[in-house]
Amino acid sequence: MSGAPKAGIVVVGSLNADLTIYTDRLPKPGETVHGNGFAVNPGGKSANQAVAASKLGGQVTLIGAVGEDPNGTMLLDSTASAGVDVSRVLRADVATGVAVISVDASGENSIIISAGANGTLTPADVEPAAFSDAAVVCLCLEVGIDTVVAAAQAGHDAGATVLLNLSPYAEVPEELAGLSDVLLVNAHEASLFLGSEADIPDAEAGAGAWEPVRSQFADRGLQRVLVTLGAQGSVVLDSLAHGAEDQITRIAPTRVTAVDTTGAGDAFTGAVAARLAAGDSLAHAAAFASVAAALAATKKGTQAAYPSAAEVEELRG
Ligand code: ATP
Repeated sequence: MSGAPKAGIVVVGSLNADLTIYTDRLPKPGETVHGNGFAVNPGGKSANQAVAASKLGGQVTLIGAVGEDPNGTMLLDSTASAGVDVSRVLRADVATGVAVISVDASGENSIIISAGANGTLTPADVEPAAFSDAAVVCLCLEVGIDTVVAAAQAGHDAGATVLLNLSPYAEVPEELAGLSDVLLVNAHEASLFLGSEADIPDAEAGAGAWEPVRSQFADRGLQRVLVTLGAQGSVVLDSLAHGAEDQITRIAPTRVTAVDTTGAGDAFTGAVAARLAAGDSLAHAAAFASVAAALAATKKGTQAAYPSAAEVEELRG
């Protein structure tokens, strides 16, 4: 066996067909509005994260489930053509998962998910052998929580960095928080996780305002947390960093003209996974991911909008 560091990324979770309708404004409850375009695209948080990481140069294996239907075939084709190893994606006798997405003229979205085949993925499908080369294991909450816990445990046992994207938000068992080396949340998820008293600072706030948030996450056992703030950028809360000044790092947003922010969070997560697997520090990975996610927001759709490493480096200058 060579002494080369492990560099693989194992993504465990969801694949969905994104049914997206574009409209000037999102309807209020009970209201009908006209759309001005419709598209069916590959999506699902885990498939998106896998594709984002692979397009950025990561060696990615995806563990998940799709149905024996055309959407399932589309998802396998799209992830495989982005370079993801899909040999561990199962085909279930259930419809492939779907996400019904509305996007307004400003790029804002609302989403409803039907799990379909994603709901058939069980802890038994998370085979430890799949993790032997894993440097990073990337998880979200679009499959059953028992399966997520099993994947976190397999990643932990393999010595990988377990990256948990707490999305879509759900309360998670203490055990899962304990197995997670890096938590990735948006501001809304951060405040839900910390509870009603949590005051998530706004984008302009300095390190002093973030210190209580870092401390609350650390008290809950989460030492390393990335909080994304949409167009306002992100914040790295790293209680394991040396000096107090290195424990909180604000990542400035990359200014772009956003066309569709759907999946920007997944682009960010996949990019963090790719850079952590390549050996970057958490703050460097987040800075790179900020540019990758901003580029993803400049095009319609999710996976097709994700950039290559060369495109990210070009924008970074
Ligand atoms: P979604 O669920 O819509 O994919 P999210 O809520 O998980 O997104 P966000 O915080 O909205 O995640 O976005 C993730 C990251 O993407 C941000 O931290 C930022 O780096 C980048 N990003 C998102 N929107 C924009 C934008 N309009 N301009 C530049 N960067 C953006």
